[in-house]
Amino acid sequence: MVIGRFAPSPTGPLHFGSLVAAVASYCDAKSQGGQWLLRIEDVDTTRRVEGASDDIIRTLQRYGFEWDGEIVYQSQRSEYYEQALTRLRNLGLAYPCTCSRKEIADSSTQQGIEGAIYPGTCLQHPIKPNTSIAWRLKTPAKRISFEDRIVGWQQHNIGQDIGDFVIKRADGLFSYQLAVVVDDAMQGITHVVRGADLLQSTTRQIYLQQCLGYAPLLYAHIPLVLNNQGQKLSKQTLAASIADMSPAETIYQALCFLHQSPPDTIKNATLNTVWHWAISNWKINRLARV
Ligand code: GLU
Ligand code: ZN
Repeated sequence: MVIGRFAPSPTGPLHFGSLVAAVASYCDAKSQGGQWLLRIEDVDTTRRVEGASDDIIRTLQRYGFEWDGEIVYQSQRSEYYEQALTRLRNLGLAYPCTCSRKEIADSSTQQGIEGAIYPGTCLQHPIKPNTSIAWRLKTPAKRISFEDRIVGWQQHNIGQDIGDFVIKRADGLFSYQLAVVVDDAMQGITHVVRGADLLQSTTRQIYLQQCLGYAPLLYAHIPLVLNNQGQKLSKQTLAASIADMSPAETIYQALCFLHQSPPDTIKNATLNTVWHWAISNWKINRLARV
């Protein structure tokens, strides 16, 4: 059974870049006779924008997306993330850290793919009293690799390229990496299709899955939609909301971006016709050649 998902963060209205990810994951799951789940990734409540989840859901409905089951909200799932953290602690794989950003920058001697590698200070010394605690995952010098369905073979040395990463922040919020791994496993997700901005996160997620004894998933990272300055579309780059565009035409544009070569007639067709064409003609490997 194929189970895919779309997991938007409610930081603003759905824009064309996230619609493309939704269309790709939807067609991928539905073309394999699978299910498609919707999960609102509001684990980082400090970035949550009032009304954004409902707005995203309404837009998805207007575009004719049909998700299976109830919508899952990460903000309501702390107990599961806490259980995962407890398990990692019991396995001796997670440890508390009281270092500030500055202390880490000053003491780190190695650069990873996302900046300074955490030097393991709190693993070697007692943590500071009366300081908020973050939790880090221990990362050994171990190669983690996977075959992305679009971008091909990927690998990191989890200890040397990433280092001990935060799974629960000092402000008490669980990290995206931990939440996404727990949710994908608990929801039985088999196929992850998402934007290429998350390609670098995947080895961390696979390593966490291994630590927690979860089943491996298949990954496909689709090219990012960039604005004409070459930046990723986001609220910051003032991506226009797609809420006011014609759904059929916007899905046509998304299918063009995804190299599916839809016929022009789709633009003026009914949503049913558009989705029928999109799902029955979907081939993810058309993206592999770009
Ligand atoms: N919530 C993430 C985002 O909106 C997507 C997470 C994922 O697909 O794994 O960028
Ligand atoms: Zn520390």
